[in-house]
Amino acid sequence: MSATTPTRELYDRYVIPTYARFELRLARGRGSEVWDEDGRRYLDFGAGIAVTSIGHCHPRVVRVMQEQIATLVHTSNLYFTRPQAVLAERLVRLTCAPGPPRGKVFFCNSGAEANEGLYKLARKFGNEGVPPAPTHTVGELVAACQNRHTVITMHGSFHGRTLAGIAATGQEKVKKGFEPLVEGFVQVEFNNGPALLAAVQEPGTVAVLLEPVQGERGIHSASPDFMRLARELCDRHEMLLMFDEVQCGLGRTGDWCGWKTLAGGALMPDAVSWAKGIAGGFPLGAIWVSDRSVTLKTGATIPLCDLLGPGSHGTTFGGTPLVSAGANEVLAVIEEEGMLENARTLGPHAKAAIEAIGSPLICEVRSVGLMLAFELVPDFAERVPAAKERGPSLFVVDRLHEAGLLTVPSGTHAIRWLPPLNVKRSEIDEAASILARVLGAIAG
Ligand code: PLP
Repeated sequence: MSATTPTRELYDRYVIPTYARFELRLARGRGSEVWDEDGRRYLDFGAGIAVTSIGHCHPRVVRVMQEQIATLVHTSNLYFTRPQAVLAERLVRLTCAPGPPRGKVFFCNSGAEANEGLYKLARKFGNEGVPPAPTHTVGELVAACQNRHTVITMHGSFHGRTLAGIAATGQEKVKKGFEPLVEGFVQVEFNNGPALLAAVQEPGTVAVLLEPVQGERGIHSASPDFMRLARELCDRHEMLLMFDEVQCGLGRTGDWCGWKTLAGGALMPDAVSWAKGIAGGFPLGAIWVSDRSVTLKTGATIPLCDLLGPGSHGTTFGGTPLVSAGANEVLAVIEEEGMLENARTLGPHAKAAIEAIGSPLICEVRSVGLMLAFELVPDFAERVPAAKERGPSLFVVDRLHEAGLLTVPSGTHAIRWLPPLNVKRSEIDEAASILARVLGAIAG
């Protein structure tokens, strides 16, 4: 039955409708291109929402994974396996470069799960670490008697769809219907120093979590000063500074670390989460935790990266030999084929190409490396009444699909370009000419 039933019908009948999917049935891909079930070609400037970081079916990754799948796929984390060990070393090295590799990594399966690791790290740090010594006020004395557990996150942020993830996320729409929310998260305005200062002074706060580049919100960067202030406040209040690099990490900004593109390598967080592009399309998430010292209430002093000790956290599939071998090869390809450099040079080229269209329907283009978004004018739906039903960004994304370009909407008015890190200049020029044609036709 299913061999002949159209894909769309099988979805309608058997897949829980959590996604409002586009009417595209994709069948295969290569590099920055994908083809649908009818053989129609598209330029893939969504890359599975920043996941297929070195394009579809890179021959080196195909070969390594074919070899690994025929050797050892899964063992559980009851045992040691070489690919996971090598990948951990690589991730620690590239996080700390040019300094010596410090800290350790935990592997999981997705961005939301990686962030869960960060929340648990923060809770354990708050429950078992010695809080900062009270200096002046009764409020500080009272606070010092409590276990700290509140994580400060940002308005507009996105941290995933688990229960804690939606509590951490600074967008009401993801929380709706799932109350009561997991306790212990507060949001402050992104890039608002005084708001952050006020929040860290509240009793019970233990960590700050932020995306250096807010991806789902449509490519909004943390200011270097805001990140430095967060570091300074976390140091002063004995809190953890944690970066969600699920979307902006591992090459997308033109550096292994998104925050280094924005604020330089001198700034180091205490922990980082990754997923998306880490294994080029295979499900893998990870966190890096620094080796800064933590003094425990027991009197012992340990590195932060050993705080989540045996039995405290785990996941069956995290860092299987198969996915780890793939991720190792993806990261080696990025390094050896100059893709960080490609993101650094072609990101600005793509931004300039969108700006050069000079469309009256675009009011802003934002970018960091190969994370780009263009903002449609606020009165788009008044200017283009046909867009009223779907909303501006979905309306334009639909028209771009018809013209052979895949892009990703961000909210009602922004559209992202997140092409593979090895996208070619000619492909960017082709995407820009499709966009120019589509916007020209819409504007009439
Ligand atoms: N954090 C950020 C910054 C993200 O962009 C996303 C996904 O878009 C997530 C976390 C959640 O990742 P996942 O969908 O793999 O759970």
